[in-house]
Amino acid sequence: MKDCVFCRIARREIPAKIVSETDRILAFRDLNPQAPTHVLLVPKEHVASVNDLAPAHAGLVGELVLAAREIAAAEGVSESGYRLVLNVGAGAGQSVFHVHLHLLGGRNFGWPPG
Ligand code: 5GP
Ligand code: ZN
Repeated sequence: MKDCVFCRIARREIPAKIVSETDRILAFRDLNPQAPTHVLLVPKEHVASVNDLAPAHAGLVGELVLAAREIAAAEGVSESGYRLVLNVGAGAGQSVFHVHLHLLGGRNFGWPPG
C-alpha cells in the first residue's frame, strides 16, 4: 500500500534495522524500543490488522511466529522469556495498520499488560 509505513520499509523506501527476511516476511527493530530486544515482524503483503486476516493467511501467520522463535533464540532471550504481542485495533494500542508481531525480550514483563 502506497503510504503505509511498513510497506514502505518492506520496499526499502524508509530505512530500518532489518533483522531477517524471507520471501514473505520482514523483521526489523522497533524505532522506539520498549525492551532491550524489540523486533517487529511483518508480512510483506499489506494486511491492515488481524481482523483482516483470512484462512489463506494461516501459513503466513505461522511463519511470523516461527520467525519470532528464531529471532528470540538469536537474541538470547529464549530461556529468559519473551513476549509476542499483536495489538488489534486502536483500543488495544495498534497505531500502524499493517499487521505486525512485536517480539519483546531482555527484561521482565508484568501481567496483566497495561
Ligand atoms: P502498534 O502500536 O501499532 O502495535 O506498534 C507500532 C510500532 O511501530 C510501535 O512500537 C512503533 O514504535 C513502531 N514504529 C512506528 N513507525 C516506525 C518506523 O518508521 N520504523 C520502525 N522501525 N518502527 C516504527
Ligand atoms: Zn502496509
